[in-house]
Amino acid sequence: QTDQGASSPGGRIMVYVRMRPMSRSEKDAGARCCVRVVNKQDVYLAEFASETDYLRLKRLKGRHFVFDAAFPDAAGQEEVYNVSTADIVEGVLQGRNGTVFCYGATGAGKTYTMLGSTQNPGVMVLALKDLFAKLRQQSREGDYVVHLSYLEVYNETVRDLLSPGRPLVLREDSKQGTVAAGLTHYRAYSADEVMALLHQGNQNRTTEPTRANETSSRSHAILQVTVEYKVQRDSHYLRRTGKLSLIDLAGSERALATDQRTIRSLEGANINRSLLALSSCINSLVEGKRHIPFRNSKLTQLLKDSLGGACQTAMIANISPSNLSFGETQNTLHWADRAK
Ligand code: ADP
Ligand code: MG
Repeated sequence: QTDQGASSPGGRIMVYVRMRPMSRSEKDAGARCCVRVVNKQDVYLAEFASETDYLRLKRLKGRHFVFDAAFPDAAGQEEVYNVSTADIVEGVLQGRNGTVFCYGATGAGKTYTMLGSTQNPGVMVLALKDLFAKLRQQSREGDYVVHLSYLEVYNETVRDLLSPGRPLVLREDSKQGTVAAGLTHYRAYSADEVMALLHQGNQNRTTEPTRANETSSRSHAILQVTVEYKVQRDSHYLRRTGKLSLIDLAGSERALATDQRTIRSLEGANINRSLLALSSCINSLVEGKRHIPFRNSKLTQLLKDSLGGACQTAMIANISPSNLSFGETQNTLHWADRAK
């Protein structure tokens, strides 16, 4: 027997912005800060002469954005996790699928936010920690099973990050939806145990031939955590499944085209099909359209059962504070603003 869990929370996408600290190299290049994060949700973008300059900008349309939350450079990993993802993990334990994306230009802090480091674990690790803690609290050992898969979409090719090898083929399965044939489903027992696995998986991401050690800015990394568990209802048990998808998206800097004509003329050039298709799906969801064009890319095919409907979705837009990245930051903020 199965049940569908709690009712839909409405399906709105929660949109967050995280500004990273100024980097050494930005400071060395004489960068100035062009972003102010205020009141936990306002973001101002401008050339600031002083710390309180943003107050005068309140009348400037287009340079002031309001999000569900905005994280200043001092915000830690735990805070970002608690605000953006903890609720979604709770939903997964009630049988709802949930998805969290990090969006932004290369170098803006997506991988730091999603994966983080051993000392400062990111959303992926904190979510697994939280998930296991809650499962241990509410069910008996043996009443739940957690599996994870970690894959990459690079140039519309799907690869297993846990067991690298040949590209995987996507298939439609009547029960499970879209599946990547042959993908590793690793049975996980604790968050600590998977930390090394995730870092190893991240090492397996495609690198640009010219920059051997740097992850390609065109690679999307998708961690999917499936939780199956039994809940007791009176005298019988219900079986529930929830899926959490955590996604470190490709750099947004080359995917700025938003209208269909520009997209088509750039197709085949340097445009990331999956990122554009994701934008289209999100716009369709936000506009409340019935048809969501999931079939247009590998990324959106994989997320068909994890976006819209009763799913909970959060988007974390990552930005640099530096005026040297002003254009990219502006594009990211406008993009995030449209996803609200
Ligand atoms: P992206 O994945 O978007 O290309 P990264 O996550 O690799 O960007 O971040 C670029 C650099 O900035 C890395 O060295 C990373 O450690 C650092 N960084 C990013 N966000 C933060 C943060 N919130 N606090 C401290 N360092 C950060
Ligand atoms: Mg990265």
